[in-house]
Amino acid sequence: MTVLSSPNFNYGYSTPGQQELNSQDIMNHVFFLSPSEWKKTREEKQFDYIVIGSGFCALGFIERVLKKDDNARILLIERGSFFLPEHVQNLPNSYQKLLLKQALKTFPWTLSSKTLNLNKYIKWQHGIIPFFGGASTLWSAWCPEPTTEEMNGWPQATIKAAQDYFKTAKMLLNVVGANHEETGNIFDHWQNQLTERLKQNLQDIKSATRVEHAQIAVGTPTITSTDVEKFSTPGPLLDQVIKCQEEAKKRQIDSRLSIVTECIVTRIWQQENQATALETTRGVVNVGDIDTPRPLRTGILTSTSCLA
Ligand SMILES: Cc1cc2nc3c(=O)[nH]c(=O)nc-3n(C[C@H](O)[C@H](O)[C@H](O)COP(=O)(O)OP(=O)(O)OC[C@H]3O[C@@H](n4cnc5c(N)ncnc54)[C@H](O)[C@@H]3O)c2cc1C
Repeated sequence: MTVLSSPNFNYGYSTPGQQELNSQDIMNHVFFLSPSEWKKTREEKQFDYIVIGSGFCALGFIERVLKKDDNARILLIERGSFFLPEHVQNLPNSYQKLLLKQALKTFPWTLSSKTLNLNKYIKWQHGIIPFFGGASTLWSAWCPEPTTEEMNGWPQATIKAAQDYFKTAKMLLNVVGANHEETGNIFDHWQNQLTERLKQNLQDIKSATRVEHAQIAVGTPTITSTDVEKFSTPGPLLDQVIKCQEEAKKRQIDSRLSIVTECIVTRIWQQENQATALETTRGVVNVGDIDTPRPLRTGILTSTSCLA
């Protein structure tokens, strides 16, 4: 028990004791499921959706589901702990240098020799960022919208999905052009010069199709300083948790969005193509009435998955 979690100890223990509070405890207390809540959740609760991983696919999915149905019950399971509330590049320089040097990544796979020899360009792959927020805390935030011609060779369903959803995805991630006037023209003079030069010499780059100002996902759509604040999912995901908690308090129900961290999903059990349970490092989760597992993934590897 922590000082924070009990009204009787709100202003301190009656006698001084061992001080055990740590940052994960605080996050569990405010945003995530504590060990006792997780036990109760596994033993008693039912969900309409279970999302594995807390990257921006998870954020997009959760936002969309709750917009359509604010009664939907969602469980998000993240393997990592809470590490950063925002993008690494929004932190002071000293942190950036340390953290960007691979320190954040793990590589729970290896490239097969077949893949390695298939294509001389694929020699390595980014690792996963196994913390709350996933790769969004480290990504470059570059979001160019491909034209239909540029997606030549992609499956029709992917092209259609891009046409249908790119605009809403850009709104979710606060994508702006680096020359955007309202954002104070992030890279200013330099950006315009670069774009102009590229335009003049486009024919020299064989694979290039067009030139545009870099489209980047930013922390807030209104940028007030010369520094670009980059987008990452921890902030918006935690906002969703707060919104759900406030709504639950008003309606005197349990919060519709529950997040558990430090919990690795190791196996999806199924019977006759129906997922029945998730095996995790913190015990088995009953999948209940959720009927169709639908993996969501943006990378070659299954980085985020979702049971819906
Ligand atoms: C350095 C870098 C730069 C990039 N730059 C760009 C860019 O400019 N533009 C662009 O579009 N993309 C870029 N990307 C790619 C982009 O970041 C990813 O495609 C995107 O973030 C993936 O989102 P996601 O939600 O699918 O998964 P992720 O963000 O990878 O999230 C997956 C989450 O799932 C958790 N997880 C995984 N397995 C389990 C499990 N078994 N149980 C529980 N939890 C699990 C992980 O801990 C992680 O939090 C970049 C990536 C990197 C690393």
